[in-house]
Amino acid sequence: MDGFDTTEGVIIIAATNRPDVLDSALMRPGRFDRQIFIDLPDLVGREQILRVHARKLAIAEDVDLSIVARGTPGLSGAELANLLNESALLAARRNKKRVDMRDIEDAREKVQFGRERRRIMDDEDKKIVAYHEAGHALVGAVVDDGELPVHKVTIIPRGRSLGSTMYMPKKDIYNYAKRRMLARLATLYGGRIAEEIVLGDITSGASSDILLATKLARSMVCDWGMSPLGPVAYGENHDTVFLGREITRSENFSEETARLIDVEIHKLIDEQYNRAKSIIIEKRAALDKIAEALLQYETIEGRHVNEILEYGEIRSPVLPPIIAKPEDTLPGKKITEKTAPKSLPGDAPAPAPSPA
Ligand code: ZN
Repeated sequence: MDGFDTTEGVIIIAATNRPDVLDSALMRPGRFDRQIFIDLPDLVGREQILRVHARKLAIAEDVDLSIVARGTPGLSGAELANLLNESALLAARRNKKRVDMRDIEDAREKVQFGRERRRIMDDEDKKIVAYHEAGHALVGAVVDDGELPVHKVTIIPRGRSLGSTMYMPKKDIYNYAKRRMLARLATLYGGRIAEEIVLGDITSGASSDILLATKLARSMVCDWGMSPLGPVAYGENHDTVFLGREITRSENFSEETARLIDVEIHKLIDEQYNRAKSIIIEKRAALDKIAEALLQYETIEGRHVNEILEYGEIRSPVLPPIIAKPEDTLPGKKITEKTAPKSLPGDAPAPAPSPA
């Protein structure tokens, strides 16, 4: 940095993912003294990024990129580009000329939740998973305040999970209100409670739900001051993001306080556990219907859950699953970007953004 005259008009720009470990000599006044923090794209940003990448593809008319943007919070530009690329490959594998909403939706699930693992599950296991997911979906739909509706429920294993209940936020959520956190806690326990009530036994399938719920309740008490212990930060979080997201907590409170914290965490969890339990007991008929639908169709959408809650049955059509051949057993040449649907001259461009 030395040797440049201030009148020379040379501007040095640098980028880093680790501003926390930069040498202070680099950061002192007169050197890198303007810092621009580039965050992940927001809802509008994602839609525009998708639009740019979609130009290279033959996109069907049913594709609404604003919906895709809504379902992809936290994805970077590169990940969004990858998502569209995956959908083009899927469309090619399904012998389609254009990439439609279904392909994009399936690619989104693959990118966000892991690849589908179609494996043989016996009827008993299927039933457990169906009731577990039905429990999440039912509680999720009942406690929803309209901002985080249930999007889809499936008993197709994906990544490491045996089934999933997915939510589609109405907009990017930056601030989580306590009310919503409590709703989330209740929803997380919906799976375990459904197993307990219907099958009379519990399985290990709820381990990640329990872990998530416990972490959430701890943060509510220790970080966000959402308990009777008051707005005090108990323990500082050192989130060493780049070292495998390991969170260490340095304790700055007494053992007595530690006990109180445990009590409050338990209280939060017990209340929401019981809330979820009474929802499931009260709406047992709906739970059975959702589980039956899952066993029949494997995947249903959020609106089907709401229809069951409202009318006691599914009223709108359920799309059958498309089973594409796995990549490694494809006959002939491998699908590459070249053979995936691309936009042709004269193709209609991707639909214009709807006025906000
Ligand atoms: Zn679960």
